Amino acid sequence: MLPVEWVTSLRSGIDRISAGGIRAILLNLYLSDSQGIQTLDKLFSIESHIPIITLSDIGHEEEARLSILHGAQDYLISTHIDIAYLSRAIRNVLERNLVKEDRLLERERAVVTLNSIGDAVISTNIDGNIAYLNKVAERMTGWSHTEAIGQPFTRIFRIIDGVTRQELPSPLDMAIEKNMTVGLSRNTVLIDRDGAEVSIEDSAAPIIDLAGRICGGVIVFHDVSEARAIMHKMSHLAQHDYLTDLPNRLMLSDRLVQSISLARRHNKKLALLFIDLDHFKHINDSLGHLIGDKLLKSVAQRLLTCVRDSDTVSRQGGDEFILLLSEIDQDSDAGSSAAKILASLSEPYCIDEHNLNITLSIGISVFPGDGEDGETLLKNSDAAMYHAKESGRNNFQFFKKDMNELTIEMQSLESSLRLALSRKEFFLHYQPIVNLQTGAITGAEALIRWRHPTRGLLYPKQFIPVAEKSGLIVPIGQWVLHEACRQAKSWQNAGLLPTPVAVNISAAEFRSPDFIAGIRAILAETGLEPRYLEIELTEGVLVQDVELSLARLREIRTMGIHLAIDDFGTGYSSLSRLSQFPIDSLKIDQSFVHDIVSDVSDAAIVSAVIGMGNNLKLRVSAEGVETKKQLAFLQARQCDEGQGLYFSPPIDADAFARLCSTTNSAYLIN
Ligand code: C2E
Ligand code: MG
Ligand code: MG
Repeated sequence: MLPVEWVTSLRSGIDRISAGGIRAILLNLYLSDSQGIQTLDKLFSIESHIPIITLSDIGHEEEARLSILHGAQDYLISTHIDIAYLSRAIRNVLERNLVKEDRLLERERAVVTLNSIGDAVISTNIDGNIAYLNKVAERMTGWSHTEAIGQPFTRIFRIIDGVTRQELPSPLDMAIEKNMTVGLSRNTVLIDRDGAEVSIEDSAAPIIDLAGRICGGVIVFHDVSEARAIMHKMSHLAQHDYLTDLPNRLMLSDRLVQSISLARRHNKKLALLFIDLDHFKHINDSLGHLIGDKLLKSVAQRLLTCVRDSDTVSRQGGDEFILLLSEIDQDSDAGSSAAKILASLSEPYCIDEHNLNITLSIGISVFPGDGEDGETLLKNSDAAMYHAKESGRNNFQFFKKDMNELTIEMQSLESSLRLALSRKEFFLHYQPIVNLQTGAITGAEALIRWRHPTRGLLYPKQFIPVAEKSGLIVPIGQWVLHEACRQAKSWQNAGLLPTPVAVNISAAEFRSPDFIAGIRAILAETGLEPRYLEIELTEGVLVQDVELSLARLREIRTMGIHLAIDDFGTGYSSLSRLSQFPIDSLKIDQSFVHDIVSDVSDAAIVSAVIGMGNNLKLRVSAEGVETKKQLAFLQARQCDEGQGLYFSPPIDADAFARLCSTTNSAYLIN
């Protein structure tokens, strides 16, 4: 039995309710201090949770029904009340309230849940108007729950395709239309109320009511900007070189395929430029990878300034870069680009206080003449680059049909070169260096030869470039130094005129960290005094890294070893620039000497070099002296020394010894 309390005025009723413990209210609409439906309204305004049953007199049925609309749970007409009826009505109301409270609780729990998850949730009614959005959705769309309710879904949830920037259709419409869950398209970007964009991902689904009818839709989404950024970064990494950020091999082949099909369609040509830095390895070996890396980055930057936006500059790894010049009109366009690149990249680089100079070798292949597909074009540009190296580096070469055979030959040469040292296939010839005034032999230049097991006798030009490219030049050079020093000492022991032996040194040897220690060890082992050794270096080797060259030369000079600049005139350095190096002699390249008698400008150059060399107190030597006239020219200009077929070709050690012991000094210059 429920306890019942009676009050007679609205005021006292409100007081009692405020005191708590009331579960249901039986309200007579006609009280001493309030009458009619407003009695209910007043009560309701202070307490809306406790169920109210109104009591009306007969004749006020209309008012009783109105009370339901104003929030009452039920009404009773006073004439119809009996105890059983009353208690049933109250029980009903209480039970209904319990259910309502349960639902409210459930709803509250759902709202809390939806607000706690990381995903944004928006639901709509069947008309496509917003029925609900959770806190994350509020934040992501920029619309508050209260502002958004009742608004069309597409106003709150604006999405575009991040790539095409096209507006996307409402995924909810689609879900409702198809009556199934649909995923958002891959590049969906949500535009919030302020126009800010965020990448999103997720799905939309219809809401089905208990009767199985679609009564709205729900979309769940979340921010994937970070994940998408990571994905972009990863795909960028996969297609770009980590050091220079240039496209890598993978991306180049993609671009190549596209460019070939474009060129084919537009009846145009395209060119591949295979670029390899000359002697880059020495910079890495001598100055360290950090400086090497910085240099590669600068090279990459310069390359980018040499091409159009539509061209692709890629790095293949190491010191190799490949340029794709898309849609050129004629082959010579590629030649002009190559010339421009050669000029731009050979400007000095200042890296961590080192002044570095580099040159490059470029091979060019052109579509469609040199290949119809990317792979062939790449292979042929590589072969052409190899030939640019062979042709003295610092130049570009167009691919020619016979280059591949030559490249293969070079490769096979490299494998036999690896075995040549252990098989003792190398030997040295010596060419006398002659005093042009007295005819006395003042030195011998050691020149390497290779007795190849199948190809016969090979000269340096045929294998030194391969040895340099493969790095084999370092052990080979060590062998030459050792053999030349041993021979010089043995001539001295035999009582022959002690003369210095000159040894040619490649850049890789000179820059190798063990170079100086190697020389010391060889001198100690062979017992040759340092003053009987002369080292020949070309200008290119010295100016590659001036600081390092200077340091090394000073050390060599301090040991008492002589230094000569070989092939002088073929490099790009001026004599004044070379004068900063502690050198003893200059060897004028044979290409100048060859035409001194017939070519006025060669004659002028040689005369000037002799004059300047004398002024700088350098010994000047002329290479490739073949005729009496040349000799006379050089003698007249006070050239100190000469070397060439006119005096003697390079000969073996025994022949050299015989030449020294039998020659009276004037014989050679007459
Ligand atoms: P190089 O140091 O300028 O040597 C002189 C070259 O001129 C030698 O060629 C010699 O045979 C050749 N020659 C001598 N007299 C005359 C002449 O009157 N007319 C003409 N046209 N040529 C003459 P070789 O022996 O074929 O050597 C070529 C180059 O290979 C050398 O040029 C040198 O740079 C390099 N080389 C030779 N031996 C070695 C070596 O042991 N180590 C290194 N790193 N390079 C070497
Ligand atoms: Mg030489
Ligand atoms: Mg020379």
